[in-house]
Amino acid sequence: MDLRVTDDDRELRDRAKAFTQEHLIPLEAECEEHDGLSEESAAKARAAVLEWSFNAINHAREDGGQGLDLFQQVIVEEQWGHATGALWDIPWRPSIPLKVATEAQKEKYLRPACRGERRDAYAITEAAAGSDPAMVETTARRDADGWVLNGTKWHVTSGDVADFLVVHAHADGDPSKPTVFFVDKQLPGVRVVRTPKYMHTFVFEHPIFALEDVRVADDEVLGDVGQGYELTKDWFVEERLMIGARTVGASTRALDLSLAFAKERVQFGKPIVEHQAIEFMLADMAAELIAAKSMLYRVAWQAGRGGVSRKDLHALASAVKLICSETAGRIVDKAVQIHGGRGYMREEPVERLYRELRVDRIWEGTSEIQRIVIGNELRKRGSDLYTGWPTA
Ligand SMILES: Cc1cc2nc3c(=O)[nH]c(=O)nc-3n(C[C@H](O)[C@H](O)[C@H](O)COP(=O)(O)OP(=O)(O)OC[C@H]3O[C@@H](n4cnc5c(N)ncnc54)[C@H](O)[C@@H]3O)c2cc1C
Repeated sequence: MDLRVTDDDRELRDRAKAFTQEHLIPLEAECEEHDGLSEESAAKARAAVLEWSFNAINHAREDGGQGLDLFQQVIVEEQWGHATGALWDIPWRPSIPLKVATEAQKEKYLRPACRGERRDAYAITEAAAGSDPAMVETTARRDADGWVLNGTKWHVTSGDVADFLVVHAHADGDPSKPTVFFVDKQLPGVRVVRTPKYMHTFVFEHPIFALEDVRVADDEVLGDVGQGYELTKDWFVEERLMIGARTVGASTRALDLSLAFAKERVQFGKPIVEHQAIEFMLADMAAELIAAKSMLYRVAWQAGRGGVSRKDLHALASAVKLICSETAGRIVDKAVQIHGGRGYMREEPVERLYRELRVDRIWEGTSEIQRIVIGNELRKRGSDLYTGWPTA
């Protein structure tokens, strides 16, 4: 068994780390103080993404992406996850279901999005439909000219900077026909209801959108009518792995900052790292981190290079998301404790990580939903997927 990363993977990691240090971390203070970035800073950051070839790491080269496999994507996102303010969302990553777009849709949406000329935001959640997407009330009714969409979408991440929405709706109002539509934000009937404030600092917003008699043509359906849940599932799998990666990266930063602080901070005549209560917290952080990271890398490797089936990956990605996000929650909590009063100041990265990592146990399926996915797998097929080991 060879657990070492290859030279190419190490080079990619070093490049992602340098990009994070040079282009994301320096923007943290501005993002925190102004709840976002100035146009100038955002434009500079976007130019850096292109210069470093970190645009659309998840899409094929022929569509203008970087064509990274899932293991490589995890390596990159782990580094970006060190940054607070959700600055990891600056390097755009068009939603993965767009890869099934038709040639014409790719020309109109995916390829410009990979180049950074357009940006998508994925809209599933509604006031009454969260964990259970079958409760979506957004309808798409077919008429002679195409489709007419009506509904309200909540928490649409990056909806402020996106210029088109990828909308999960029920064709003919029928929950057995979930369908995904491209909806240009400029279309008549698309309206921002409001832009709520959230616990975290996030470089972009999560507006609520109303769709009021929005007309789209037949060729604005992504995939097939009724295929919406399958496409959305692909989005979940990729996002769950990337949440695993970013929370591992964020946890690593929290541990490193805490260790440095504990070695330097003196109370009762010695550095606090020499008080065993603090040393034990650091030890738990490190031990939990290696466990989460080992699992993340194993599953990401299986996903990228190990030929795992789509079904198995769905079940494994839930376990990764559950463990990495819950581990990160415990790690950032300890990081704040080790920093004492300073850990409660917004100017300290650990304070921001504490607020910002909370959502990782909620979005892309809550921890309870991940347990439901894992529990279903156990009931139907036994434990082997989780307890066994991939063979060559
Ligand atoms: C900052 C942020 C950004 C987001 N971005 C997007 C986005 O870009 N696009 C998008 O579509 N959505 C987005 N979401 C929505 C997110 O995915 C949902 O909030 C999440 O899936 C949970 O849904 P809910 O909030 O409706 O909670 P609910 O589903 O109402 O759940 C409430 C509680 O009940 C629990 N629960 C629900 N069902 C069960 C069950 N069967 N068994 C046990 N417990 C259960 C949940 O775990 C949770 O604890 C975002 C959310 C946030 C906070």
